[in-house]
Amino acid sequence: MLRFAQLCEAVAATTKKLEKRKLVADYFRQQPIQTASLAAIFLSGEVYPAFSERTLNVGGAIVWRAVQQLTGRSEEEMAAAYRRHGDLGAAARDLWPADFTGSVLTLPDLAKLFDDVASSRGPALKQQKVCDLLQQCSALEAKYAIKLLVGDIRIGMRESLVEEAIAAAYEQSEQSVRRANMLLGDIGETLRLAAEGRLGDARMRLFHPLGFMLAAEVKSSDEAVSYIPGPHVEDKYDGIRAQVHCGEGKVRIFSRTQDEIGESFPELIPVLESAPEALVLDGEILAWSSLGDGTASGAALPFSALQRRLGRKRVTEKMMRDVPVVYVAFDVLYAGGELIIDRSLAERSEILTRVLNAFTVHRSELPATARGAAGSFQPNLFADDSAEPDFPRVLRAPCSRAASAADLDALFLEARARGNEGLMMKNPASTYAPGRRGHAWLKMKRELATLDCVVTGVEFGNGKRAGVLSDYTFAVRGPGDRLMNVGKAYSGLTDAEILEMTEWFKSHTLTDFGHSRLVEPKIVLEVAFNNIMRSDRHESGFALRFPRIVRLRPDKPPEEADTVMRVEEIYLSQHRTE
Ligand code: AMP
Repeated sequence: MLRFAQLCEAVAATTKKLEKRKLVADYFRQQPIQTASLAAIFLSGEVYPAFSERTLNVGGAIVWRAVQQLTGRSEEEMAAAYRRHGDLGAAARDLWPADFTGSVLTLPDLAKLFDDVASSRGPALKQQKVCDLLQQCSALEAKYAIKLLVGDIRIGMRESLVEEAIAAAYEQSEQSVRRANMLLGDIGETLRLAAEGRLGDARMRLFHPLGFMLAAEVKSSDEAVSYIPGPHVEDKYDGIRAQVHCGEGKVRIFSRTQDEIGESFPELIPVLESAPEALVLDGEILAWSSLGDGTASGAALPFSALQRRLGRKRVTEKMMRDVPVVYVAFDVLYAGGELIIDRSLAERSEILTRVLNAFTVHRSELPATARGAAGSFQPNLFADDSAEPDFPRVLRAPCSRAASAADLDALFLEARARGNEGLMMKNPASTYAPGRRGHAWLKMKRELATLDCVVTGVEFGNGKRAGVLSDYTFAVRGPGDRLMNVGKAYSGLTDAEILEMTEWFKSHTLTDFGHSRLVEPKIVLEVAFNNIMRSDRHESGFALRFPRIVRLRPDKPPEEADTVMRVEEIYLSQHRTE
């Protein structure tokens, strides 16, 4: 563990990628495979490999309290050390008791202690296990054990750099390391295979997520055709990206963060279970409004409708009826018993159409949750005829080919008229590159209006922004010009602007809560966002989704900031189809 912590210090101390890679590769070579394999996972900032569902489930607060318990320091001393570094691990190193000298903790020992934390239930027990672990660490070891516990190692290593170091350490090609890691979702196991010269043995784990291919943004159709002259075009839907693994009567649905989300959408399961063979599909889950003609024609509802279904483990029948969902598939990554990501999009697209046509169940009038425990039938969930779903639950995303920028402009307007966000343009010759954002896929979105908002509250940031007030809560004007919050955002301003604003906010504070402050409502910001949702969190009743600060508006007095009515107007304009 001490060697590992020293390696992390050395890696953090250089900004040069090549040096980082050499340091890590040398370390791998000098360690036994089991230690190197764990280090590969830890250096990627994780405690468990990507495919694993295991998590430590410890929040920063538990670790904070454990550090306090062990060091016996006051809240003020802790807060001051945290502000100095913006990182709990580095803060703890300053506060660590001199008599905790560490001993002989190895990385396998550390992994075992992480397992104890992961398997303990309840905050009190977890805190105790965290204490048990940290007690065995010297100050430097504690710094990195804590970084791993809170899931933020911050030494300028990315998983791709760990892959490169593995390739260098064991004299394998970077491409073969990358591919094995993509298939296995386990950088530790990848290292083991590389060390043993068996990278070719890596096989995909069906029912474990692969990375998602991502798109680069373009601002115009001309720019799009400059990258892809004759693109394959689909609507850009505003739902939840979802990778489906199905077949052999089994289904798992993964979100972009690789969490399993099938439980939230039980009505999709019976249809996906009827897949003709083992498949991995890529697509989007959407809230859906059918045209009521029994066909696939219909329109996606805005994300705000789908939002009501999110994060719920137990989905009520009413919810399923109120917000019907469909899965719109636009790609297939595994079919015919093999991974097909190296085939062209044109070929995958044909395969997708064929496999979707072969599903045997299309509608799920009776979601799995409505079935009795022993398979006995409960009253039909859609007993009311008018509410019976009259559309297939799994659809193929309609696609077309554009020959020119003018074609794209026409398609963009049609997509917008259907209530979708814009267009996705894909290179028909491209392979599927998991986890990569490149120019083989392009996205073109509508520009929504921006809002001019007044800053009402500020907070200290994290990391290099720990000492400055960089996170702003902002409001619009409600009835009688009362300010009502609509969101919170950070970044977007330059460092110089943030410094200047920090001084201003410090001298215009109304209430100081330590980490956050209420401030005089004088500063106006222009804020961009992806869309607007209804929300109980803010008094305005609305929340901006993905808000970004565009610029300061010193030219605008707070009395001229936008109003709740304007927010509602934009909200309603998004909901043409709802
Ligand atoms: P963004 O979130 O703005 O970076 O846009 C990328 C996201 O668009 C993807 O992660 C998908 O969730 C979503 N998306 C919507 N429609 C499509 C489509 N037809 N093909 C690929 N991605 C899509």
